[in-house]
Amino acid sequence: MKRQVMEAFIEPACEHNQPNHKGCAMPKPGEAAGGCSFDGAQITLLPIADVAHLVHGPLACTGNSWESRGSLSSGPRLFQYGFTTDLSEHDIIFGGERKLRQAIYEIIQRFHPPAIFVYSTCVTALIGEDLDAICHDETKKWGTPVIPINSPGFVGSKNLGNRLAGEALLQYVIGTAEPPETTPFDLNLIGEYNIAGEMWDLEPLFNKVGIRVLSHLTGDGRFEEIRYAHRAKANMVVCSRALINMARKMEEKYGIPYFEGSFYGARETSASLRQMGRLFNNPELNKQIENVIKEEEEKLSQDLVYERQILRGLKVVLYTGGVKSWSVITALQELGMKVVAVGTNKSTKDDVARIKERAGHDVELIESDGAARILKAVKTKKADIIIAGGRNMYLALKEQIPFLDINQERHTAYAGYVGLKRLAQHLVHSIQHPIWELVRYKTSWQEELSNDS
Ligand code: SF4
Repeated sequence: MKRQVMEAFIEPACEHNQPNHKGCAMPKPGEAAGGCSFDGAQITLLPIADVAHLVHGPLACTGNSWESRGSLSSGPRLFQYGFTTDLSEHDIIFGGERKLRQAIYEIIQRFHPPAIFVYSTCVTALIGEDLDAICHDETKKWGTPVIPINSPGFVGSKNLGNRLAGEALLQYVIGTAEPPETTPFDLNLIGEYNIAGEMWDLEPLFNKVGIRVLSHLTGDGRFEEIRYAHRAKANMVVCSRALINMARKMEEKYGIPYFEGSFYGARETSASLRQMGRLFNNPELNKQIENVIKEEEEKLSQDLVYERQILRGLKVVLYTGGVKSWSVITALQELGMKVVAVGTNKSTKDDVARIKERAGHDVELIESDGAARILKAVKTKKADIIIAGGRNMYLALKEQIPFLDINQERHTAYAGYVGLKRLAQHLVHSIQHPIWELVRYKTSWQEELSNDS
């Protein structure tokens, strides 16, 4: 496990490990609220819908990440079960192995899953449970893959946990089966978690140009398809920081080229499609991609006439992380909006450069987490709306500022061309909501009082 953690920590394809950088940020005491490594591993793997995800640890660890993301499944619901060994003080003293074996037995008997992922937590790592040995033993006993996910919370950040989950897939899953058939344009999507069903807007688009998603890593994924991900002809990394190690290692081991892209906004979507075309390197495919882009962009610009009229010139404070911190800027600019401040506390140096490239050098960068900083930016920049994660919603509402949820907990899909239309509609709805007129209305005596003061 130590070797795996170190490998993920010093991942050479990560911008944190370029010369003069010392690797990912180490966790600080009390920082688990921002997501521990265990949480990160679950974010990456929970979207595999037909697998049983068993947390070996106290109940609270399961509660930390269970159902906290909006990943959807088009079929199996097993991933939504919160399986845990629920360790108590007694188990911490005498060991939790018996409980773990019993849990694996019960899951196999009752649910017959294609695989069980067993997650270690701080508690089981500290008491020295040998997850690898137990999982190996149980796999042999039942013939069902029981896969150890060695990513206890204390080893690092949420991001490191994402990578350790990728390592587990590379070590135990990818390359263990062959696909029923292959096509010349098979693609793996890495780091796309089907939040609010975004994958279901993108896949028809790929099919239209003639590209097939061979393995969904991991949004709406199935265990079997991930086993044959090594047969894809190209990999697209949707969130670079999260699973860059996976893409790099698949290139090394299986010769699959990869690129990093986004689907927020028409421009980014078109750029990603073109990039796919470049990797597949087929003139016919490229022609088809150009035709589809032209058709979709023309349709979208007709569809957005009304929303663009309302949104043109409005100012936005964007507070989100990673790839969204820059890719959403492009989407908002396409709607005619101006991004005046951007949160960068979860952004890499590369992300920050992309933010500045898109939003201009006068954009305010909100480096540290905190409601006060967001609010200050809204007031000084005279912003019209805050676009952020759900936990900032009440800040916006208390301050009577229109708000849009952009993070993983959201219930609306914003990816691709259709997603941009949906984003525009939700922005208009939020900005034009009649509640703003009501809450900002001042009675005559309130007017008098404010005049007096
Ligand atoms: S794995 Fe550790 S840091 Fe993460 S929720 Fe459990 S106890 Fe907390």
